[in-house]
Amino acid sequence: MSDRQPGFDTLQIHAGARPDPATGARQVPIYQSTAFVFRDADHAAALFNLQELGYIYSRLTNPTVAALQERMATLEGGAGAVCCSSGHAAQIMALFPLMGPGLNIVTSNRLYGGTVTQFSQTIKRFGWSATFVDTDDLAAVEAAIDDNTRAIFCESIANPGGYITDLDALAAIADRHGIPLIVDNTTATPYLCRPIEHGATLVVHSLTKYLTGNGTVTGGCIIDSGKFNWSNGKFPSFSEPEPAYHGLKFHETFGHLAFTFHSIAIGLRDLGMTMNPQAAHYTLMGIETLSLRMERHCANAIKVAEWLEKDPRVGSVTYAGLPSSPYHDRMARICPKGASSLFTFSLKAGYEACVKLIDSVNLLSHVANLGDTRSLIIHSASTTHRQLTEAQQIAAGAAPDVVRLSIGLEAPEDIIADLDQALAKATA
Ligand SMILES: *Cc1c(COP(=O)(O)O)cnc(C)c1O
Repeated sequence: MSDRQPGFDTLQIHAGARPDPATGARQVPIYQSTAFVFRDADHAAALFNLQELGYIYSRLTNPTVAALQERMATLEGGAGAVCCSSGHAAQIMALFPLMGPGLNIVTSNRLYGGTVTQFSQTIKRFGWSATFVDTDDLAAVEAAIDDNTRAIFCESIANPGGYITDLDALAAIADRHGIPLIVDNTTATPYLCRPIEHGATLVVHSLTKYLTGNGTVTGGCIIDSGKFNWSNGKFPSFSEPEPAYHGLKFHETFGHLAFTFHSIAIGLRDLGMTMNPQAAHYTLMGIETLSLRMERHCANAIKVAEWLEKDPRVGSVTYAGLPSSPYHDRMARICPKGASSLFTFSLKAGYEACVKLIDSVNLLSHVANLGDTRSLIIHSASTTHRQLTEAQQIAAGAAPDVVRLSIGLEAPEDIIADLDQALAKATA
């Protein structure tokens, strides 16, 4: 074997997958088994003590899920990865070992609507809190950090507008404060953006979207860069003795894999937000064609965005791939291969016309999802961002006159034709 580094197109097919040692099966088998037989009592004891690696019970680890974890870690350039049951589970799993009652995160205000709700409402029940800031205002980010802050959180390409975040600048601030930068890379995928190369410590994904790519799976993943110093005094879950493992210290024992081991041995064991092997299998299938799909998603999105931008019925289009976007310059640095296929446009005729537009599309599907082979449309203000105040909706890029698109892989002229006829009905 030569020591050349395989390309992304090769790794998306081969990373984490090897012929099955038992049968030679070329595709990763679906290990639909809850438990795995121990060789003997000593083997069982070593596994339970984390002294030897192996499979015990599928709430913690499963061979099909492990293949997906290795593939995700490889594609993101991380040290390790843990899969879980959904993107929202990944966010809780990422925060879980960092946080405690009274601690907070500083987060972008441009986020997936469900994440805004999770961070502004639900995490309060754990005694955690979130401060929302405009991450383009670096002074505001800096000012929001206090002694109890344990992470900065953002999306690389932010939902719903497709805005691009200056990851390097946020990573520099996080570094100065000895806290990790957590980046939700769902919309970009590792094909378009690799946040660890821009200084991120943890990358979270909803595998539900472009990674699986066809709307069949709910899944999540956390990838650890392996580069953060968890022993700086702020993260006792990693640096202090863990009573449930005879006083084992995760950072001292597992080094750059401390987060990954903790997320399996404590996170999945006790929170139980486990991915099932069927979901891992579908996601592995999807990832095999990730680069091909993302190229077409981006190519279709720019065609649709350019057409919309020229249409007199349309107010504005947020796609960062358009030269007119204020985020176009940042794209060259953060996601040079493309700006994904999620963006919004506004209708001059306002809220009612948006609702009518949604009711008039034929090819496009009106669903609360993104990153499907199919083109999708939704009016965020009356659905995904409905729980937010109007001020929060506007800050999040989901104002009442705005419609969100996730452009799929159909012939672009068909997507445009459907939008054209629906716009005609909506503005008649
Ligand atoms: C969908 C989504 C989530 C939540 O993922 P689920 O798999 O639905 O739990 C989080 N962040 C972003 C950017 C998303 O698009």
